[in-house]
Amino acid sequence: MTCQTPLPRRLALRALYTLLAITLLLQCAAHAAAPLARTPAPGFYRFMLGGFEITALNDGTLGLPVAQFLTNTTPEKINQALADHYLESPLETSYNAFLVNTGTRLILIDTGAGNLFGPRLGKLAANLKASGYTPSQVDEIDITHMHGDHIGGLTTDETMNFPNAIVRVNRRELDYWLSEANMAKAPEGNRGDQKGSYRRAMAIMAPYIKAGRVRPFEGEAELSPGIRAYQSAGHTSGHVGYLIESQGERLMVVGDIIHVATIQFEDPTVTIAFDSDSRQAEQERIKEFTRIADDGLLFAAAHVPFPGLGRLRTKGHGFQWIPVNYSAGQ
Ligand SMILES: [Zn+2]
Repeated sequence: MTCQTPLPRRLALRALYTLLAITLLLQCAAHAAAPLARTPAPGFYRFMLGGFEITALNDGTLGLPVAQFLTNTTPEKINQALADHYLESPLETSYNAFLVNTGTRLILIDTGAGNLFGPRLGKLAANLKASGYTPSQVDEIDITHMHGDHIGGLTTDETMNFPNAIVRVNRRELDYWLSEANMAKAPEGNRGDQKGSYRRAMAIMAPYIKAGRVRPFEGEAELSPGIRAYQSAGHTSGHVGYLIESQGERLMVVGDIIHVATIQFEDPTVTIAFDSDSRQAEQERIKEFTRIADDGLLFAAAHVPFPGLGRLRTKGHGFQWIPVNYSAGQ
């Protein structure tokens, strides 16, 4: 005698098995198919400099056609040097700014590009918030120079993005970019010393000037205890850097004396088309790199790969770049 399960029960069991199999399959599929997160990496990096808290803030990255923009060299040499580093032109380039909390004041050095250069940049405000601060907490903004990728974040649609901040800028730099006469002489275009750069600078500064929040300084000056501006002309005529010092520790924020880390440390004679005076910019770069190497200074740069922090040693006719060792920031 064979033991036969009644037909309706067999059908019910088969349906149950099928359901279990489908459930298992779905679970496996769900496990394998976690969607790509697609969120960017956090764009801030924090460390202590004596009693000051320093936060490097990333404004984004942008592909720069450096083989075309770098001067006092050849595209062949640039492409070869990039290939030696497994890179190519256009080169993905960082745009960095630096926040200093002195314990009593919050000071931002440069502001990123804001909405001037498309959605790949303009992330400084979001990264500032991710780092634990809001734009309204910023007391002061110290500007290295007035190119759009350094001041663009100040203003959106004629509105101040940092409503409680004063803006410190070298008077020579301010006068240069706000001059209608200089703009009239400039060629058409949107980069370096071209008309578009003047137009942008005027529009960005206007609400701060109107609110009485722009406080120019004369070249070398201590802007607040532990933060001193120094002359660094060449990239622009009023370009400055800032030497930050707390409890004997020093950091030099050098602005745009360098744009392409893989090329200009090794050969600081290479210049870039955005320089107002490329010969002067070259001499200033060599002078500052020599000082950084001789004094073992930590320095921060706007376009060196994020967080843009490291030191230099002299090597051959140029310099060797030594990025900071990673710190989780406790
Ligand atoms: Zn720049």
